[in-house]
Amino acid sequence: MSRLENDFGLLGEEAKAYLDRVHGLHIGGREVATRDSYALCDPTTGREFARAAEAGPDEIDAAVAAARTALNGDWATLRPYERERRLLRLADLLEAHERELSEIETVCSGRLLPNTAGVDVGYSAHVLRYMGGWATKLEGQTARLSVPYIPTGDLQGFTFREPVGVVGAIVPWNVALGIAVWKIAPALAAGCTIVLKPAPQTPLSALRFARLALEAGIPPGVLNIVTGSGPEVGELLVRHPDIAMVSFTGSTEVGRKIAAEAAGQFKRISLELGGKSPVIVMEDAEVAAASEAAAWAIFANHGQNCCAGSRLYVHRSLYGEVIDRVVAIAESIELSAPLLPDAAMGPLVNQAQRQRVLRYVEAGLAEGARLVTGGTAPDHVGAYVRPTVLADAEPQMSSVKDEIFGPVLMAAAFEREEDVLALANDSRFGLGASVWTRDVDRVHRMTRALEVGSVWINVHNALDVALPFGGWKDSGVGNDLSEAAVLAHTRIKASVHHHA
Ligand code: NAD
Repeated sequence: MSRLENDFGLLGEEAKAYLDRVHGLHIGGREVATRDSYALCDPTTGREFARAAEAGPDEIDAAVAAARTALNGDWATLRPYERERRLLRLADLLEAHERELSEIETVCSGRLLPNTAGVDVGYSAHVLRYMGGWATKLEGQTARLSVPYIPTGDLQGFTFREPVGVVGAIVPWNVALGIAVWKIAPALAAGCTIVLKPAPQTPLSALRFARLALEAGIPPGVLNIVTGSGPEVGELLVRHPDIAMVSFTGSTEVGRKIAAEAAGQFKRISLELGGKSPVIVMEDAEVAAASEAAAWAIFANHGQNCCAGSRLYVHRSLYGEVIDRVVAIAESIELSAPLLPDAAMGPLVNQAQRQRVLRYVEAGLAEGARLVTGGTAPDHVGAYVRPTVLADAEPQMSSVKDEIFGPVLMAAAFEREEDVLALANDSRFGLGASVWTRDVDRVHRMTRALEVGSVWINVHNALDVALPFGGWKDSGVGNDLSEAAVLAHTRIKASVHHHA
């Protein structure tokens, strides 16, 4: 068998037993079959390996109704401590099922096993524990009041943080379970219930997770999963009048549509959108570390990270050396099937994504960028693209302006700090940026000047659950992770008590 094709014989018994069938929806704690289903295809061969349910309006209504019932019933009656305990138990169960879950995620998405095990399972357990702790720490304020037109008596004011309601969550395929848990955990900690729609390509990890949630004692209806092959399921969810908040991660284009629709019904939104994040190597950087980090900032997860370091700006004095080092790493990466234990880079999620990436490479070359390595795909049906570096990139190139979402690095040299800040900020996106320097004054100046939601110094794409993560400009509205994500799922009630 070619090293470019997944061998399903390598799967553990649990994943094997789980995968090969038609997967129903998860509504009110039960698996619900639908009339229609669609194919899930292996990104290394294009071959169907399972099917998922195609939800329609009736199923979306049923899922939202189940979430509403649980919101005012079983989930509301549990004390915060009991909600916390269940989220902690779910984290343990996730870890106990690491191999199964990471294999499911890898088969659907083409991502490497260490990545799906580390990010979608390990990191998710960490997020569940952190967020579980918030269930017992949501507080209001108290104040002695003096309402001027109520001249007598004692007035005491209180605020309460109450769950915002049923959350509709819509997530992408690039870190499917990981991002789903970023949505689910703060919503549940705040007392909300949820209907989650995974991406069409990667529904199975969320469905398996929902079964584990039941096992952890999270009542039926608190977490519901609806699947479908097109945009319709997401659209129905966003439009549904009983959805109080839409929590979305995905492309800027879809985020814009969701914002418009949600505004008409005054729904809460949290939108984590696209990026075109710069990696900036200053003249005093530690070159070997910066170059290695720059390579993996774009090649990790095959470039399919929202804050992939897809623009590399290097001080002219180091430009040649950094490019050489990044290229050496790119050329050392062998493309191979992600189920192989030694795989260094697998396929993109599907052929459509591969074509999109190759089109951007062609456009970059036509617009005058210089191909240093890659730029091609193996002559194989799998959705592979070789790690690619295009040098001498100019700001007006479409491959510099747009998010490519693949292993394509656009590199350019600069002379002065103010020049690179202008280049970095010359983007409609504002998700993340990293700066490589040892100069403390420069760190402060550049951190303040960069128009992004996350600045990383001598590290790239470092996302911790204790810090808010969110985009500026076309990269989004609101934050995932941290206390900010929990509070975003609450609404404030003010109360006045009058004692005569
Ligand atoms: P996408 O926007 O095409 O799809 C995301 C989700 O939205 C999917 O579940 C999809 O089925 C659904 N959807 C599509 N059209 C819809 C509509 N009209 N209404 C409601 N839902 C709809 O994105 P993708 O291709 O799955 O993922 C890649 C994108 O996600 C990239 O732009 C990437 O940057 C972004 N992303 C952002 C972050 C972040 O935290 N900022 C993290 C990961 C990925």
